[in-house]
Amino acid sequence: MITLALSKGRIFEETAPLLARGGITPLEDPETSRKLIIGTSDPNLRIVVVRASDVPTYVQYGAAELGVAGKDVLMEHGGQGLYVPVDLGIARCRLCVAAPAGFDYAAAVRRGARLRVATKYVQTAREHFAAKGVHVDLIKLYGSMELAPLAGLADAIVDLVSSGGTLRANDLVEVEEIASISSRLIVNVAALKTRRDEVEPLIDKLEAVTRQ
Ligand code: ATP
Ligand code: MG
Repeated sequence: MITLALSKGRIFEETAPLLARGGITPLEDPETSRKLIIGTSDPNLRIVVVRASDVPTYVQYGAAELGVAGKDVLMEHGGQGLYVPVDLGIARCRLCVAAPAGFDYAAAVRRGARLRVATKYVQTAREHFAAKGVHVDLIKLYGSMELAPLAGLADAIVDLVSSGGTLRANDLVEVEEIASISSRLIVNVAALKTRRDEVEPLIDKLEAVTRQ
């Protein structure tokens, strides 16, 4: 039996059609089922349903041989113990710095001002600003990042943007792109060696359907 870690919502919704093209159907819908372990039409493959940010952890420790995680989550996790063989091209968005429309971000950076930045991606943000030599105080949030500048908690945020609709609705503008994001297939490095005959066919299948 091999185990694939997926998160509910976008990742599951966009991974399911790829699995279907490979002839694999989940036996239940995680959006409606309360089950956290879901069988599939392949008797040797099951799905575990975990938080998006927990997917790399399950795979790193081998609790799941494979998983699907956003590049954002992988950057923040660090990728220890993970092999990342396939860019699935799903759940595309950008990881950006955004600030209130009236805030002169470029000028603040030029002045060497100390910026307060709220984000769920503290590690990634720290590395990004350190590489640019920008001084930041990072404030860890778990959601609704857009509120932070409006409420006076931060000067700017680091968050995912796809259409930009949420930023616009909150009078924020994208001031810098940190990374282009899509979801990746991740594999436990040890499992790839010890269970190659089970793991490799699924990697090959997902790679093939992604290229279709
Ligand atoms: P949790 O609910 O556990 O905090 P989450 O809110 O990060 O997790 P999702 O919103 O389902 O969970 O996001 C999962 C992944 O989907 C993200 O890590 C990212 O890679 C991608 N994603 C998030 N937002 C968007 C978006 N607006 N457009 C496209 N892809 C996105
Ligand atoms: Mg979300």
